[in-house]
This record gives sequence, C-alpha cells and structure tokens, in this order.
Amino acid sequence: MAARPAPYLDDLNPAQREAVECLDGPVLMLAGAGTGKTKALTARIVHLLNTGRARPNEILSVTFTNKAAREMKERVGRLLGQAIEGMPWLGTFHSICVKLLRRHAELVGLKSNFTILDTDDQIRLLKQLVQAAGIDDKRWPARQLAGIIDGWKNRALTPDKIPTADAGAYNHRGVALYAQYQDRLRQLNAVDFGDLLLHMVVIFQTHPDVLAQYQRWFRYILVDEYQDTNVAQYLWLRLLAGGHKNICCVGDDDQSIYGWRGAEVGNILRFEKDFPGAHVVRLEQNYRSTAHILAAASNVIRGNQGRLGKELWTEAEHGEKVRLIGHWDGEEEARWIGEEIEAMQRGTRGLRAFGLDEIAILVRASHQMRAFEDRFLTIGLPYRVIGGPRFYERLEIRDAMAYFRLVVSPDDDLAFERIVNTPKRGLGDKAQQTIQTTARANGVNLLEGARIAVDDGLIKGKGGAALRTLVEDLRRWGRMAGDPDLTHMELAEMVLDESGYTTMWQNDKTPEAPGRLENLKELVKALENFENLQGFLEHVSLIMDNEQADADQKVSIMTLHAAKGLEFPAVFLPGWEDGLFPSQRSMDESGLKGLEEERRLAYVGITRAEEICTISFAANRRVFGQWQSALPSRFIDELPEEHVEVLTPPGLYGGGYGAAAAPASAVRGTIETRASEANVYNSPGWKRMQARAGERGTSQPRESRNTVIDATAVSSFTVGERVFHQKFGYGTVTGIEGDKLDVDFEKAGPKKVVGRFLSASDD
Ligand code: ATP
Ligand code: MG
Repeated sequence: MAARPAPYLDDLNPAQREAVECLDGPVLMLAGAGTGKTKALTARIVHLLNTGRARPNEILSVTFTNKAAREMKERVGRLLGQAIEGMPWLGTFHSICVKLLRRHAELVGLKSNFTILDTDDQIRLLKQLVQAAGIDDKRWPARQLAGIIDGWKNRALTPDKIPTADAGAYNHRGVALYAQYQDRLRQLNAVDFGDLLLHMVVIFQTHPDVLAQYQRWFRYILVDEYQDTNVAQYLWLRLLAGGHKNICCVGDDDQSIYGWRGAEVGNILRFEKDFPGAHVVRLEQNYRSTAHILAAASNVIRGNQGRLGKELWTEAEHGEKVRLIGHWDGEEEARWIGEEIEAMQRGTRGLRAFGLDEIAILVRASHQMRAFEDRFLTIGLPYRVIGGPRFYERLEIRDAMAYFRLVVSPDDDLAFERIVNTPKRGLGDKAQQTIQTTARANGVNLLEGARIAVDDGLIKGKGGAALRTLVEDLRRWGRMAGDPDLTHMELAEMVLDESGYTTMWQNDKTPEAPGRLENLKELVKALENFENLQGFLEHVSLIMDNEQADADQKVSIMTLHAAKGLEFPAVFLPGWEDGLFPSQRSMDESGLKGLEEERRLAYVGITRAEEICTISFAANRRVFGQWQSALPSRFIDELPEEHVEVLTPPGLYGGGYGAAAAPASAVRGTIETRASEANVYNSPGWKRMQARAGERGTSQPRESRNTVIDATAVSSFTVGERVFHQKFGYGTVTGIEGDKLDVDFEKAGPKKVVGRFLSASDD
C-alpha cells in the first residue's frame, strides 16, 4: 500500500501526533480522561495501515469491551476511507485469547471445540468438588473458592505455582481443589474465563516455537485502558511483544478501577522498566468536558495519594456547573431523574434540547438500576441497560443455551446436568446419580452415560423412556447442526420446541412465564447475527455487557465500571451516599486502597460528561428489601463549591410533583425528626445545600408528602385509626401484627399492608 496523504493526522494535536507517528519500539501514552488517548490509538492503527507497515491481520489491538472494539473497527474504516478486510485481532483480551486457544487447545489438553463456562457453571462445578471432598460448603462456600481461584488465574498461577504464602487458602484445601478443578475442566473439555489467558500464557511459556510464530505475526501491538490489565494479561503482552517490542500502551492511572478483579495499576508504572527506552507521551488537553465539569473531576481525584498527578486543561467554555441534588429516597430520585430527562428532551432551565441517546445514568451498583427501569417503564421513557442484570443470565435463557451447548458439544456435562430434567422428565436424584456413575464407570460423557444406562436397563419406566428420547433427540439435533438446508435459527427453534422446553413455559401459570417466552423468542432472534450456533455461544460467553447495537433513541443505564472509555453529553450520577458510593466494603477496609479506587470511579463517572453532569443522593434507600438511611457521599464534600450548583430537592422543599391527595399532618415533623435521627443532614455537603436552598427562600418542609418511610412509623398506628396508603387510598386499621397492618380500605376493601407505606390521615 502506497502512503497516501493523511487527513487523519490533521485533527490531532502535536503530542497525539507524536504518539501516532512514532511507530517503532515501545510507546506509552499516559494521560488523563478525555485527552484523546483512544482517538490517537485509532489513528495509529490507521497510520500503520496507511504507511503499509502492517496488514490488518498483523495488528494486535486490545480494547476493554467488545463494544469499544466494534467502534474502533468502524472508525478505522472511516478514517482510512476504504473498507478494510476485517481486523481479526482487534478485540478484548478474552475474545483474542479464545481464537488463539482454539488453534492450540491440544497443547493444554483440550479439544478445539472446548466450551467456555460462565460463573454459574463454574460455581456448580466447584460445589461438586467441594462436597466430594467432604467439606461443609455452608462454612466454606464454593463461591469463595471460585474467587480465590480467579485471583490465582489473574496472577497467571497454575496449581503447581501457587506461592507458599497462599497455602492456607480455603482452609488449606484451596490449592488441591484448584488442581482438581483444572483436571475436571479438562475432562469436560471446558475452560472458565480466567483460563483463556492462563492457558495462553502457559502455552507461550512452554512452547517457544508457538510464541515465536506469533511474535513475528503480530508486527504491532496496541493496548487501550492499559491501567486495568492484570498480571496474566500483562505477561501475555510482554511475551508477545518480546521480539520486536513494537508495543503501544495507553492508559490513565487515575482511571484504574478493576483492582478488585486483579488489575495492577503497577503495570503502567512499570512499563518504562520493562521496555527500556520507551517513548513516553503525555497528553494534557481535555477535549471532552466543559471547564466546570473538568474542574470538579480534577478536584475529586486530587484527594488520592500516590498518583502520578496530571493536570488537565481545556479550551472549552465553562458551561454548566456540576448539578447536585438530594432526594428523600431512591424512588424519588428515580422519579426526578425521569422527569428531568423528559424536560431535557424539550430543553429546560435554559439548556439546549438533548436526545435520549445523549443521556446516560451511571450507577455504582447494578441493583440501583431497578428503580430507574421501573420508573422509565412506567412513564414510557425508552432506555437500554448496558451490563447489569443481563439478558443472558436469565433462567430461561440459560436453560435454552444449555440445550444449544449440548447440541454443539456433547461433552458439555454441565449443560447436560442443567437440562436433563428440565422440563420434568421424571428423572429424580437417583436416576441422575445412575447416569453419573455409568458415565464414570465407562469413562464417557454424561450424554453417552445416559445412553448406556437406558440401553442396559438401569433406568426404566417413564423416566427411562423420556431419557432415551432426549438422548436420541440431542444426537439428531447435533447432526442437523451440520445440515446446510437448515438455518441455525430453525434448528434452535426446533430444539426448544421438540425438547418440550417452550411448552413447559406455555403451561406455566406464574406471572413471569409470558416474559420468559418473550425472552426465548428474543434469543432466537439474536441468533440471526451469527453464522452458526457455536459462534453465537462464543459471543454470549464473551460479552461482558448486554451491548445492543440498535441506534434507537434511548437513555443508557449502566454501571460506572461499564462506562469506562465512553462519553455522553449529559450524565446522571445517582446514589452518591456513603455505603453505596463509596461502597461499604471500601469504607470498612483498613487503609485507603479501596477508598481510593472508589474515588477513581467517581473521577471516571464525572469525566464521562461532556456538557451536563448531575450528581444526586437520597436520604433513604431500600437495599435488598431493607430501608436504610444514608449520609451523602464523602465525595460530595470534595466537589469544589465554585463549580457546583445545588438544585432544589423536590422531596424536602416542596419543589415536587402535584401536591395531590396527601394528608399534611402525616409528614409534618416526621421528616425533620427522622432525618436528624438518621443523622442524614449533618454532613457539610447537605448543610451547604440546605443553606443555599434557604437563600433562595425555598427551604420549607414539604407538606404534601404521602409516604412515611420508616419502620418506626408502625408503632404509631392504632386499631381504629384512619390511614392513607399511596396505592389504596384511605382506610381504617383493623389489626396490627408486627410491621404488617390489616386495613379496611374505603375503595379497595380489606388488605394486609406494610406499615411503612401508610401514613396517618388527618381528614
Ligand atoms: P478516556 O480516558 O475517558 O478513555 P481518552 O483519553 O481515550 O478518554 P478519547 O475518547 O480518545 O479520550 O477522546 C475524548 C474526546 O475528545 C472524543 O470526543 C474525541 O473525539 C475528542 N478529541 C480527542 N482528541 C482531539 C483533538 N486533537 N481535537 C479535537 N477533538 C479531540
Ligand atoms: Mg479512551
């Protein structure tokens, strides 16, 4: 390819250009959020191609999510101004390693059609091993062992390499169980997530010829979000770059947010030692956010010690200050954000009008999403959830996938176990035990074991007949998977129908059943984007978030972790309360490590915003069914006043929504007392907020609330008292039992209700 003029270089600043044009040898781009690291990395790929330094399939580029990989591919194509013949090695660590491992599986004792287990399968398998070892898995949960093993894999430690310091793990049984687990995975022809990298590192370390082949093949290596690589990923990169050392890593130590998953920010600090003579490029101009937003973010991150300390600047205007608002509870926060988004669509408070796809809600914990989902469904506000409770984790989807997995790979014993009696085939524990022992005695997989057990008459009667049908069906479907006249969508539908799985939900009378059938339809629909079942299964096991590519106008809801690298004109950051953000765990920890990671997360959150950043918190929140009162996050106190505007909280100061049918005395007084009991308003952040709201003359206790949220409210009711319920209206208490009350509602009739949803009626 002859070098052509390079317009993609024109919109880079000199420092970015330097990082792009310095093609040979190691390059480290270390810079803060929004300084154009990813942009420069993309331009570098284009430059490599444009100058003919490498062909698309000779460039290895690692992104943090599949979505980022997709976007980068698109951008490269656009910048290059011509279609590229695909970039097979542009992807996440995991997706790249799956491809490599399929080629070399036999070197670690696997077959190339190995299955990738998800966390659920992994834990089920570990539980079996734990129980077989006679360990009380109530005291020593398998989940805990899974965490320990993941930790070792993240550090690229095979069972024989575990340091003595770790010998005591899982009551001194961890190392042995890890070894057993790896053996069992091999028998199942399966790997877990951690194995994808671990196996590749082992292969590279033990087969220099294979390594040399790839060192030559991947002429250039590029890595985005380098600050979040773990030891295994780091070793893998170092091995691959060991020959030519043409490696370019970009990252930001202030955005290292995966320490809990084994990421080592030290990798980025060590780069210059590992690659002597590395060219280090620093970028300082932020192109993403307004000055107020950037200043707020910078001030928060300044609270961390031991950072490299980068100062960012921007030519952008001051823009809007970061907006801060407090709410009475999480539901109200969701309600307010819903209304605010609708107002923003129209253009409100003097702001421009925003499209829904320009707006994102970034939460600390995925359980926060539910309130927004509920609220947005109620008001019909289109949204998409990225990450969080994933579609592919739903029960019916996992069952269906287990069928598909078995069709593709009969060795997949975990899938077999999952569906052998789903739908019910009359195969109880005993029959399943028989299948297990038969399989073990014959050294075959469970499917084959089932066949033998039925043939030999070990499982008889109705169950035996049903099992025979299942075994035969699975084989038949397996053969059909190779039939060119049948699409994999048709096959999938056939499997779900003929297995009786769809019928099972059609006959199910629970309220969830219709939704599950919808989901199954959706699943078959999702297959269309793939060439075959195996490709689809691979995709599903790799997606870390539920990334839908539809371009419809929707608000995005995702965790802060999932938002890394992304940007949105308007960002909402709800739930800034101590215990939620920063997380309780990070606050309980001795030392600052956890808290500093939370602060980096806050920095990541604020720096996603281009124009409008709204931070909020609630005084009460229901976490896993329990009401908790909370203090505003300590990070709120770190927001510099001059860059923050405090909005009037509707819940407390009467800013609210329709002063409708609520009795006044129910609330008067209770808010202040409850609030001070909960110590909610003692933080400087809240006081400041209240003072400012007061200055505007809006500091009036709201008289129109109709919900009293506190368990202590229960004791204040007496039999015969007239009460008000948000949903059922007025009624009279007829009985009290703990926190539950019998109420005879005037319109809705007698009901049992929870006290905290009631308020005393004063009319
Ligand atoms: P993060 O740390 O959040 O991943 P980043 O450093 O990767 O951020 P980019 O996402 O590459 O930053 O860029 C941020 C925004 O700034 C993008 O919208 C990008 O198009 C824009 N941008 C980057 N560099 C320039 C430039 N030289 N001129 C104009 N806009 C730029
Ligand atoms: Mg980036």
